[in-house]
This record gives sequence, C-alpha cells and structure tokens, in this order.
Amino acid sequence: MKNYALAVIPGDGIGVDVTDAAMKVLNTVASRFGFGLSPQTFPWSCEYYHETGAMMPEDGIETLRGFDAILLGAVGWPKTVPDSVSLHGLLLPIRKAFNQYANIRPHRLLDRVEGPLKASAFDILCIRENTEGEYSGAGGRVHQGKSNEVAIETTIFTREGVERILRFGFEQARKRRKHLTSVTKSNAQKHAMVFWDDVTRELAAEYDDVTVSQMHIDAMAAKMVMAPEQLDVVVASNLFGDILTDLGAAIQGGLGFAASANINPDRSSPSMFEPVHGSAPDIAGQNIANPIAAIWSAAMMLDHLGEAEAAKAVLAAIEDATRQGVGIRPGSHTTDEITAKILGVL
Ligand code: ATP
Ligand code: MG
Repeated sequence: MKNYALAVIPGDGIGVDVTDAAMKVLNTVASRFGFGLSPQTFPWSCEYYHETGAMMPEDGIETLRGFDAILLGAVGWPKTVPDSVSLHGLLLPIRKAFNQYANIRPHRLLDRVEGPLKASAFDILCIRENTEGEYSGAGGRVHQGKSNEVAIETTIFTREGVERILRFGFEQARKRRKHLTSVTKSNAQKHAMVFWDDVTRELAAEYDDVTVSQMHIDAMAAKMVMAPEQLDVVVASNLFGDILTDLGAAIQGGLGFAASANINPDRSSPSMFEPVHGSAPDIAGQNIANPIAAIWSAAMMLDHLGEAEAAKAVLAAIEDATRQGVGIRPGSHTTDEITAKILGVL
C-alpha cells in the first residue's frame, strides 16, 4: 500500500478549522481508495512566534524536506504579529527553499454558488509565476526624503524562470481544453514583458496542439468579467497573477472557494497546498469558515501525489454538496455541516 508522509501546518485563525476539515476528508478518502497517510502536525503559527520568537524552528525547512507534501491552513495574525514577520518567517521561505515556482489556482463557479456575474460558465486555471518577476525585490531608493527622491522597482524575468512556468502552463492546457492565454503588458513595458511574449511564441511553436492567445493585463481583467468562457489556462507573472487570482476568487463566489497549490513540478522537494484565504480573524473560532477552499486544495494535493481518482472523488463530493445547497453562501452552513455533507457523499 502506498503511504504518503504529510506535513500539516494549520497555522492561525480559521486555518486551524479548515485544515481540520481537510484532514477529515483526506483520511476518509485514503481508506476508501486504499492508500495510507502519515500526517505530522506542526504548530508553527503566530502563537508559536509569541512563545519562541520565530514562526518556525531554525531547522524547519530541513524537517519539511522529508515529507511528500505540505498542507497549510493560513498564517498571520496582524493584530499582534506584523504580516511581514509571519509571511517572511514561514510561507515565503518554504516556497523559496522548495522551489515551488508554479502557483496554481483553479477558479470555477460551482453549482448553485452565486458569483457576482450573470455568466454561468466560469472554469479557468490560473498559473502564477511564484519566484521572480515584479516581486524579485530588485531596486532601491535614492535621495530619501528629499524633493528629488527616486524609487526603483525592477522586474526580473530569467529565461529559465519564464520558460519553465510557461511550459508548466502548456502541460496543464494539454490536460484541459488545450487553450493557453499568456498575460503581459508588453505594449507599455518594453523589456521584460516583450521577453515574456517572445518566449511564449517560441514555446507555442513547440506545443502546436495548444491554441495560444497573448493578452495584455488590462484587457485580460475585462475579459475575465465579460467573456470568461473564452479562457482556459491563464499564465501570468507574479504581480499580474496575484491580481488576476483575487479577481478569479471573487468571480467564483469568494475566498471560501479559492484553492491553491504551490508546486515544484520537478518533484525534487515537497509542494505545498493551501486555501487562498488568510486567517480571517473576524470569523476565527466560530465554526462558520467555509472549508471548501481548503478541501479543494487537499484534492489538488492528492492529484499531485498521483491519486487522481481520489482527487476526482473529493471534487465530486464538493460539487455534490453545493448542488444540494450546502455552503453556497456565507453563513448558510457551519464549517462542520459543510464538512459532514462532503464526508457523507464520499
Ligand atoms: P490575509 O492577510 O492572510 O490575506 P485577511 O484576514 O486579511 O488575511 P482573509 O483571511 O483572506 O483576509 O479574508 C478576508 C475576509 O474574507 C475574512 O475576514 C472573512 O470575512 C472572509 N473569508 C475569508 N476566508 C473565508 C472562508 N473560508 N469562509 C468564509 N469567509 C471567509
Ligand atoms: Mg489580508
């Protein structure tokens, strides 16, 4: 029997509630599909930071390296720990150390969930470059505080970085509707964005079974609202992907439905699966957080581990739940009720 070592980091706030729900689903589906899970829970969180002065121990990364995958809830408690500390003390080091360069976010409007748009067909897969681009941190400020002050933020695209994320996108498109939209702003930014477009064209020739569209970010944002049925896989840089996936989450009905995976496609180290939402202090501990985003993220983990049938079953159970009206709008059901419904159809 296959067995997967799973590092579980519930984190803060509703991260704890939704991870608990996701683990229940994983345990059920593991016994049904005949594989084993060995979860180990790590209490790394803002509370841990208060106790120890760090978000995780010094050898945290080395500890995680031995696992097949990481399941994360949410990390952050801005009232007592600045986001810069929680983010830079846990999430970002993990993404970086394990070279999780592809951030995948499926945006799909589930049955009966009411998104803000009239359109019913909304099913896209956003792939965000997770390591470089506009967030590479290159730049600086000169003449600080003076009237001639200048601040520069440099976008860095490497051939390796751009090629691998686009290749990943093409591979995903082959598994879906064989359409890829590459998003830049090459009419206004003439170096990095034009380079990204060039690499897209080179690869398009190689993946000639995939139809490619190249769009500018502004037009893309409009298209996601006006004609999302024309989109399938969307590949974008770090900044553009960040913005588009918040839009995607809103269109699919809100953060309670937005799943994500931080993938290291070459599998040399573990990938990490987490809902897009944060710790949501306003609803923490009240049993009202929607666990669907976390459960969907767990399904993405199963798929990545090679348990495709189990992943499909979890997604089908989620869809079944919303089809029956469970969890379709904020406050309609408790976390436990939504989880129980999903477990019941698994
Ligand atoms: P972060 O800084 O990590 O983004 P945040 O608290 O600023 O965290 P989120 O936690 O992402 O923001 O969520 C914003 C709001 O959306 C929450 O305050 C909550 O009201 C709502 N929300 C987020 N996730 C869920 C969920 N799973 N179920 C229901 N409501 C949610
Ligand atoms: Mg926030």
